[in-house]
Amino acid sequence: MSSKSILVIGGGFAGITSALEAAEMGHEVFLIEKSPFLGGRVMQLYKYFPKLCPPSCGLEIQFQRLKKAKDKVKVFTLAEVVSVTGAKGDYKVKVRIKPRYVQPNGSSLTEAAGELSATVENPFEFGLATRKPLYMDVPFAFPHRYVLDKDAATPEDLKKLAGNAYINLEETAKEIELDVGSIIVATGWKPYDLKNLTNLGGGKIKDAISNMQMERLASPNGPTGGKIVRPSDGNAPKSVAFVQCAGSRDENHLNYCSYICCMASLKQACYLLDQYPDARITIYYIDLRTPGRYETFLKRVLSSPNVTTVKGKVAAVEDTAGGKVLVTVENAITGIKAQDAYDLVVLATGMQPSLAVEGLPFDLPKDEEGFIIGGAEQGIFAAGCAKVPLDVMKSAQSATGAALKAIQTVVGR
Ligand code: SF4
Repeated sequence: MSSKSILVIGGGFAGITSALEAAEMGHEVFLIEKSPFLGGRVMQLYKYFPKLCPPSCGLEIQFQRLKKAKDKVKVFTLAEVVSVTGAKGDYKVKVRIKPRYVQPNGSSLTEAAGELSATVENPFEFGLATRKPLYMDVPFAFPHRYVLDKDAATPEDLKKLAGNAYINLEETAKEIELDVGSIIVATGWKPYDLKNLTNLGGGKIKDAISNMQMERLASPNGPTGGKIVRPSDGNAPKSVAFVQCAGSRDENHLNYCSYICCMASLKQACYLLDQYPDARITIYYIDLRTPGRYETFLKRVLSSPNVTTVKGKVAAVEDTAGGKVLVTVENAITGIKAQDAYDLVVLATGMQPSLAVEGLPFDLPKDEEGFIIGGAEQGIFAAGCAKVPLDVMKSAQSATGAALKAIQTVVGR
């Protein structure tokens, strides 16, 4: 029997957009997200293009729309697809939902969380901070409800939580089956792993951070309350280097342009100059790419006397005994090999599709890099960065297109 419902896999900006577009056209939508909260990578940014607004602005609008459309969009967090059977128009999808251990009204557990003794590395902060086992990623998280990482809690922590009315330590994982006619895959992207970039420090140099770590440092809800400092000693950086194409456009890593990282570095240069007007900033690049309407932004950033550009591929990033980070580059214009030392280095790491490192339990045509390149004939559509590197605005457009395709698949069947 055919179904007019639509499944959206992935609760980042693209997945939420697809879900809302389909729901607001009257379709039942199931939106599943494997992490405890919606928002994906956008949630981790300080500001995003085109308006350079904080994520709370765009995402809160989306969350309000989700609340209004709650009769049409069923959101499942901590949820992953286990199996998909059937065919276009009539899929049966098994979804496993992990326990949250926190009741639906559990949004005021700050005190209870603070009393717990365990702390674990916080993946949301890319290793720049720790967190308690009971947590919310950001103050405006959706769902606005804590989650308990039970495995990270100590036995004493669990004893403390056992008497809390908002906690249910007995909650177990469950499996549900959904009938859907079409599937949208919006599984997003991951920052390319610094560990792979051994010549650029391999993630071992504290003051050679990734561009996503820079977003967290600059973010008011981040580990330093928005103050950009050197992770090694908490000092203000007086000199900062941006290393472009860190892992992108390189046949040994990501063999494509990640699209967003030039714009990200230019944006982050502005973050720095806002906080440290005297900072010395150098951008090492192969090409500086500002697709679309961002030429003016590029010119504005480069017009700052504090910002210098060096054309050349960085060969090495190394720690020095003096606490600085040394950048070695062969200048592509002069041919001269040069070295310069900085307080902080930002590696403009690229965008890798999540499906390159994590699979789905059904077959979808992908290219060698892990981007989805087919599926339409099965009624399965890719949205956002699962398909191609995109910025937030274009990701939303791609998600709207995928929603339209999914609607066309289920309508009239
Ligand atoms: Fe390199 Fe810029 Fe493309 Fe990123 S956007 S891969 S830094 S050229």
